Amino acid sequence: MLSPFSAFLILQTQGDLVREVRPDLMKEVVGHLSAMPNRNTNNATLTQAAEYIADIYRRIPGLQVEIMKYEAPKSSRVPEAKEVVQVLATLPGETDRRIVIGGHFDSINMQDRSLDAIAPGANDDLSGMSQAIEVARVMAKIKWRNTLVFVAFSGEEQGLFGSRALARRAKVEGWKIDAVLSSDIVGNSASLNGQTDKHHVRVFSEDAPIAGSRGLGSTDNSRELARFIEWNARGKLRGFEPKLVFRRDRYQRGGDHTSFNQEGFSAVRFTEVYEEFTRQHTKDDLVKFVDFNYVENVARLNLITAASLANADPAPTQVRLDPRQAHDTIVRWRPVAGVTYRIYWRDSTSPVWQHSMDVDAKLGEAKISKVNKDDTTFGIGAVGGVPVALE
Ligand SMILES: [Zn+2]
Repeated sequence: MLSPFSAFLILQTQGDLVREVRPDLMKEVVGHLSAMPNRNTNNATLTQAAEYIADIYRRIPGLQVEIMKYEAPKSSRVPEAKEVVQVLATLPGETDRRIVIGGHFDSINMQDRSLDAIAPGANDDLSGMSQAIEVARVMAKIKWRNTLVFVAFSGEEQGLFGSRALARRAKVEGWKIDAVLSSDIVGNSASLNGQTDKHHVRVFSEDAPIAGSRGLGSTDNSRELARFIEWNARGKLRGFEPKLVFRRDRYQRGGDHTSFNQEGFSAVRFTEVYEEFTRQHTKDDLVKFVDFNYVENVARLNLITAASLANADPAPTQVRLDPRQAHDTIVRWRPVAGVTYRIYWRDSTSPVWQHSMDVDAKLGEAKISKVNKDDTTFGIGAVGGVPVALE
């Protein structure tokens, strides 16, 4: 349980961890893998790349590495159904609640449709896949309450096959996933359109509730995860912030986070602000165009998010607002001994949380005064965890 003293220690640790993030391993990984002709999910190069990534994860003490097999179905970009692989690296915590952090390592060339066309895929998406490795390297240095799962997805470019296989497996095996952080295309800070932004990364989230989720009043909620990421990052990263986008993904595009949202988990997608579309899915997605200072910042954001979630108690249950008409707002929940909860509130039109107040667990009840209840949205979470919103 999180005492105020341990909360202080965790904050210190988060600052220390942020300073541990370095570009070296990401450069090594992106350089090596983008020098392969391609990592098309149909090809033996995909398996070679997976083995390389698994070996990188095996170099990090404490991780349990698995090469996960699944079947990529016959489809427009898969001529024959075949068994393919992706990589999972688990850092076991004290609990079986999990936080998933990843990116995809497969690549594709959409101009030359032959399966052996050159497709370096340095930014799409070795940037996102490699930042997860860096987050793993740093987080594996200390013990966490909850379990972390680092994933290098495949089959993304053929139709999100790898993420769907893992999301379905997670559902079947009853995984308790608090959050999925998918980083896809997080290495480009300037477009050829003359636009530059080194200071933000977009966070795409689903409208809630979504199919299969437990809906409002639960934390299986992509949008609430996004709001939490923004809140948690405030003031923690010098010159770098998440930019929330309230849309499932970029227009007419898709990504691995959606596979998890569809199975009722909460997932978001990180993507750079200004993409250079002429390099994506071509032979020109090269390591020389990757801004590793930018990728480092994305890794730091993933790190502070995961670090907070990885030590958080579970979200409260049986959360409700007192329905009586009164000036004060009373929030009630089922208290769990020793847990500190945080009440959040915002104007109903504000996209982000604006205020918070920490409350003692014992009562299972908190009163917010001088806030006009009917103009306001409230939420409550365990400190460090994604809050439950009360609509
Ligand atoms: Zn991608």
